[in-house]
Amino acid sequence: MSATIIDGKALADQLSMALKKEVAALKEKGTTPGLVVLLVGDNQASQVYVRNKEKRAQELGIHSIVERLPADISETELLERVAFYNQHQEYHGILVQLPLPKHINEEKIILAIDPKKDVDGFHPINMGKLLIGKPDALPCTPYGIMKMLEAYDVEIAGKQAVVIGRSNIVGKPMAQLLLMKDATVTITHSKTQNLAELAKTADILVAAIGQGHFVTKDFVKPGAVVIDVGMNHDENGKLIGDVKFDEVKEIASMITPVPRGVGPMTITMLMAQTVDHAKRTLNP
Ligand code: NDP
Repeated sequence: MSATIIDGKALADQLSMALKKEVAALKEKGTTPGLVVLLVGDNQASQVYVRNKEKRAQELGIHSIVERLPADISETELLERVAFYNQHQEYHGILVQLPLPKHINEEKIILAIDPKKDVDGFHPINMGKLLIGKPDALPCTPYGIMKMLEAYDVEIAGKQAVVIGRSNIVGKPMAQLLLMKDATVTITHSKTQNLAELAKTADILVAAIGQGHFVTKDFVKPGAVVIDVGMNHDENGKLIGDVKFDEVKEIASMITPVPRGVGPMTITMLMAQTVDHAKRTLNP
């Protein structure tokens, strides 16, 4: 039997409708949630992501601006822009679009963002809070995945979860969020031996690798829930996931598609965190 398709787009639309109402209610109380995106240079993929974020913010009534900065901006100048927005009452969320040009130390920039305005959840303070099980702002992709699992009533406690990928923005926080929900979690990466065998132990399998169609049916236990984070382009430029969707959907119990899976949820959680931060300025 073919898997249930986890419709990230539909869920994102549903959450966005609720968020829109929250934004309207906040505006009535005199607070308009504000988001500033700092975009350095002209990375094509970043331009698309930023445009999508701006569009979504506007649809929800969030006040959003994109500050476009030249690729040769100095680290000091960028730190000054971050400091400016840290002080600016109008903006409750600050997002610095990554990657940054090589001459700028990303860690230094992330560290400079006020953790209370960190809507990406990448600040070490927020990462640390997550690790001790007292999360504040969360990395948006794993946060969105947890919302999807919740919406589809996926049982997590006591289940085996395998996360492929250990990046700070996806793999590690994903593993920690699953652990907090009492899954038994295995994190795997490029040096993992017997990856397919390990993946096959998973009741919940999360693929965050960045290699198109890497996860075949040989990685998947029949009945597993498969979450595909990957965003890759095939030789024709078509967007594809890390999972070979057509064959895996035949054995999984649930699966996220690409597109219309994890991606729309990521942006929605970014908006949700901006609104949350704005709410906190009302009830600190
Ligand atoms: P990174 O490149 O930072 O991390 C990839 C991870 O995959 C690394 O931990 C790496 O291992 C591991 N890996 C690479 N090759 C293999 C392999 N052959 N076997 C096992 N593990 C491997 O990527 P991100 O975490 O930032 O992103 C992953 C994917 O998710 C990308 O396609 C990205 O575009 C997509 N993405 C999608 C988002 C969305 O909203 N849908 C948001 C963020 C990312 P090692 O650490 O050993 O190098």
